[in-house]
Amino acid sequence: MLSGDTILALSSSPPPARRVVLRLSGPESRAVARRLTGRDDLPQAGVIRADVHVSGLAIPATLYLFRGPRSYTAEDLVELHLPGSPWLTQTLLKELVSPSAGVRPAEPGEFTARAFLAGKLDLTAAEGVATAVAATDARQLRAARQLLAGTLAGRVRDAVDRLSTLLALLEAGIDFTDQDVSFISAHDLRSGLSGLIADLTSMLAEGARFGSLSPHPTIALVGRPNAGKSTLLNALVGETRAVTSPVAGTTRDVLHAPLTLPHGVATLIDLAGLDHTTPPSDTPTVPGAIAGDALDGIVAEMHARALATAATADVLVLVRDPADPAPPPALTRDPDLVVFTKSDRSGDSAQHAPTAAPHVVVSARRGDNLPALIDTLDRLCFGTEGGHGLALTARHVRHLTAARTALDHARNLATGGRDELTASALRTALDDLGAVTGAVSPDDVLGRVFSTFCIGK
Ligand code: GDP
Repeated sequence: MLSGDTILALSSSPPPARRVVLRLSGPESRAVARRLTGRDDLPQAGVIRADVHVSGLAIPATLYLFRGPRSYTAEDLVELHLPGSPWLTQTLLKELVSPSAGVRPAEPGEFTARAFLAGKLDLTAAEGVATAVAATDARQLRAARQLLAGTLAGRVRDAVDRLSTLLALLEAGIDFTDQDVSFISAHDLRSGLSGLIADLTSMLAEGARFGSLSPHPTIALVGRPNAGKSTLLNALVGETRAVTSPVAGTTRDVLHAPLTLPHGVATLIDLAGLDHTTPPSDTPTVPGAIAGDALDGIVAEMHARALATAATADVLVLVRDPADPAPPPALTRDPDLVVFTKSDRSGDSAQHAPTAAPHVVVSARRGDNLPALIDTLDRLCFGTEGGHGLALTARHVRHLTAARTALDHARNLATGGRDELTASALRTALDDLGAVTGAVSPDDVLGRVFSTFCIGK
């Protein structure tokens, strides 16, 4: 991927289109622009309109010329903006590639990889470019903006600085072991490490609150049988997806439905498996259906799956019928929102139990308060503009978690006398933190990050 070649790619949506953008970066870019336009007087940098000559035709184009290092890639860079004809684009892409002149097609993400290698971007910002290009909703665009702004990189760099200082002090002591000189006490080292561990823990927690950078955030509905989950799901998605019935336990499968919210699309999940809070053998069986141990097994399996889905959902919603005196199902985490249903029933308004989580009172049957519920779900899924949370990809979570584990290990070792082992654990943590921003990234990590890009970026 990484060489001094000149690279070429279509950098816009594919034709047919009103305009397309072809992008060249590398030492031959300007020579290609000169050859195409037949003009030797091209400025060093700037925007010009000129005809480009393709198979004997003169095509009007706009050229954006950048002189390295003042360009995206820090190399000489040329963008050709042309009419978006498929024939023209294909012909130019074919004609401009010239192995003898060192012009070749770009690989996915290669423009951004060059910017990264030239020190114009760190790895998290490069990932921000990929996230922005692939963003399908406002939350992902906000994540991209945050990565590009260097929010994560800044916090990781601060941790790297503090950790490097601790390591330097520890290593200085190791060099003077025979003279019994210590540059940092075991107590100060441990308290420095505790501070770092707390910071990484809070970054990971903020990342979890922001939500995974998965395509669609998930909203899980849980509640007792007959709480009104299926009716609510149907009312929200606007069509009959879930079977509703006054007979408890009608919904037996996990149901998924896309829910369009103001800032993006979420996946709504009806978790019927958690209806079964009583031991499986007490669950009434459907006449003529599977009985006994087999049913116990199925119910237990459904319960386990539903619990796992509830634990990992981006937003957990507890649905409650205020008239149901039984306690809600036990969950492995607190719900993000409680929805009290059936507010149209006369006499039971405002009877709902107090909750720690925010709550909304609705009638799925009449549609009362559903717009307020949709706004609340939107805020929980996509946050508010400039809102809280830290955008983390799975790669960041992996490295931050590994660094925290190594720091924990180092803190256990830092009781004096085991400085070599402690220093080694600190170096492991430093490598993992460095890998987040790309300060210490083995080639295979770089390859993996940039291969997720599309060509032309
Ligand atoms: P689930 O078991 O939690 O999925 O509950 P269902 O959605 O199947 O609803 C259970 C019963 O409550 C059904 O008879 C529904 O018609 C009734 N129900 C659900 N939502 C409402 C509502 O907003 N108002 C009223 N009056 N009844 C509702």
